[in-house]
Amino acid sequence: MTSLRAGSGELAGKVALVTGAGSGIGYAIAQRFAAEDAAVAIDYLGHGADAKTLARDLNDNGAKTAAFEADVTDAAAVEALVAQVVERFGRLDVLVNNAGIEKLQPLLEIDEASWDSTLAVDLKAPFLCMQAAARRMKESGGGSIVNISSIHEDFPFPSFTPYAAAKGGLRMLMRNAALELAPLKIRVNNVAPGAIATPINAATLADPVKVQRLQEIVPLQRMGTPEEVAEVVLFLASDRSSYVTGSTYFVDGGMVRYAEAL
Ligand code: NAD
Repeated sequence: MTSLRAGSGELAGKVALVTGAGSGIGYAIAQRFAAEDAAVAIDYLGHGADAKTLARDLNDNGAKTAAFEADVTDAAAVEALVAQVVERFGRLDVLVNNAGIEKLQPLLEIDEASWDSTLAVDLKAPFLCMQAAARRMKESGGGSIVNISSIHEDFPFPSFTPYAAAKGGLRMLMRNAALELAPLKIRVNNVAPGAIATPINAATLADPVKVQRLQEIVPLQRMGTPEEVAEVVLFLASDRSSYVTGSTYFVDGGMVRYAEAL
C-alpha cells in the first residue's frame, strides 16, 4: 500500500502528467507530486497493474490522480492522452517526459529495429508530448516541462549508441524548446540521472560484479534511488525554479565527472 508522504502543498492547484509512471523513476515522481498536492496523470504502457494500484492508493490517501494507458511514441495516442488529462483535471501545468527504454548493443551489432524503437521512445516521444502539452500550456499561460534524459546525454559509453544518441538529441530538443517556449512562460529542463536502482537496470542489479564496478566508478560510491531523482524533478516542476530554463541537472552521484588518477 502506497502511503502519501506529507508535503507542503508545493504543487497545489497544478496538474501534472508523468509518462511511463508505472515503474521506477516515473512512479516515484508521481508519488512525490501527489504528496505536494498536484493532480497527477499517470501514463503507462506495461506495468499497468502497478500504475492502477498506485493511482488507487494515492487517491485513497486523499490525492487526485488517474492512470491512463498510452504509447507515447504514437502521435494520435499522445494527442488523446493530453486531451483526456485536460478533460479530467481541467488544465495541464507540468509535463514530465520520463518514459524510456535502453538496449545494450555493440555498434556493429545494432539492428534497425533496435535503433528505431530506442529513438522513438527516448527522443520522438518527448517531442510529441512536449508539443501536445505546450499547446495546452500556451492557452493557460505557462508551465514546466521536465525531460528525464540521462548522463548519456553527455557521456559516451560502450554499447549505448542508440540510447546516447537519443538522450544527446533530447538535450538539444530541450535547449531549442526552452528558447522557443520561453515567451509563452513555459520552462523546459532536463534531469539527467546516473545509475539509479530501477527495473531498467535489472540485469546490472542481478550481477554483483557489475554492481561492484558501478560503485567504483560513481564518486559517491553507490547507486541512486528513484526518490532522489524525483526530488530534483519536483524543484524544476515547481515555482521555486521560476528563473530556470534550458538547463540540465545531473543526479548521478558525480558519475559524469568520473576520472581515475594515473
Ligand atoms: P523503468 O524501465 O522502470 O521505466 C521506464 C518506463 O517507461 C516503464 O514503466 C515503461 O513501461 C515505460 N515505457 C516504455 N516505453 C513506453 C511507451 N512507448 N509509452 C509509455 N511508456 C513507456 O526505468 P527507469 O529507470 O525508471 O526509467 C525512467 C527514465 O529514466 C527513462 O527515460 C530512462 O532512460 C531514464 N534513466 C534511468 C536511469 C537509471 O539508471 N535507472 C539512468 C538514466 C536515465
